[in-house]
Amino acid sequence: MAGTHLQDKVAIVTGASRGIGRAVALALAAEGASVAVNYASSIAAAGEVVATIEEMGAKAVALSADVSQADQVDALLKAVMAKWGRVDVLVNNAGITRDNLLLRMKPEDWQGVIDLNLTGVFLCTRGVSKIMLKQKAGRIINIASVSGLMGNAGQANYTAAKAGAIGFTKAVAKELASRGITVNAVAPGFIATDMTKDISSDEILPYIPLGRFGQASEVAGMVRFLAADPAAAYITGQVFNVDGGMVMA
Ligand code: NAP
Repeated sequence: MAGTHLQDKVAIVTGASRGIGRAVALALAAEGASVAVNYASSIAAAGEVVATIEEMGAKAVALSADVSQADQVDALLKAVMAKWGRVDVLVNNAGITRDNLLLRMKPEDWQGVIDLNLTGVFLCTRGVSKIMLKQKAGRIINIASVSGLMGNAGQANYTAAKAGAIGFTKAVAKELASRGITVNAVAPGFIATDMTKDISSDEILPYIPLGRFGQASEVAGMVRFLAADPAAAYITGQVFNVDGGMVMA
């Protein structure tokens, strides 16, 4: 149900043209946030997300940027600041997979996944934290994965990047806590998006206690909570699994 706890707040969601990022953008807009809908190449899909948000009565802008590239991240943040003058919520969601068994993994597939899924998180967080430090407030939410907690055969690159993003979350949470900025991670299990469309559910479902893939909106619900003020104000450096019970600590 829509609320208003992000009224007058500005959110950036990376990789918001499709899948989980799209659902997160809609969920934050439903709380009144103005949303920067970042995408890499899906200009029409990003435009549809913006139009949907505007129909909801909130503000949005589509901004293309490859967030693995420092100069493009700088340009993205400059564009958001020029338009709205602040950033209250950053959701580092953009991510890719380039799966292969270790012995067949090409260095470019290793590097490409690390560049976006880990370095992209660093670049966006570093840039936004400068803005949030001046504001003395902010919420940073990193979309990790259960792969980063439990490992996944055929995903050494992705697992390393997601485990790195979880470690990064904890280090930066400690650095920024005294300035009113919280940093948390969400670790989805198998969520029905383009990323998982080729995965056979027969092989996976036995490992999911709740017996189904998750929906992007179910991950977005956790992100919406972590962005909420004051509800989530006392939570930082944590990892929240949204995985149908796959990983139980
Ligand atoms: P998806 O449906 O494949 O969407 C990926 C999004 O990332 C798209 O919006 C894409 O933009 C964007 N993107 C790709 N490369 C980019 C780049 N270089 N710079 C900026 N944006 C870029 O993926 P998803 O399933 O929603 O996954 C979203 C996040 O959740 C990822 O970090 C993923 O690792 C994580 N996750 C997903 C699952 C799952 O089961 N689906 C599970 C655990 C974690 P374009 O449309 O322009 O290409």
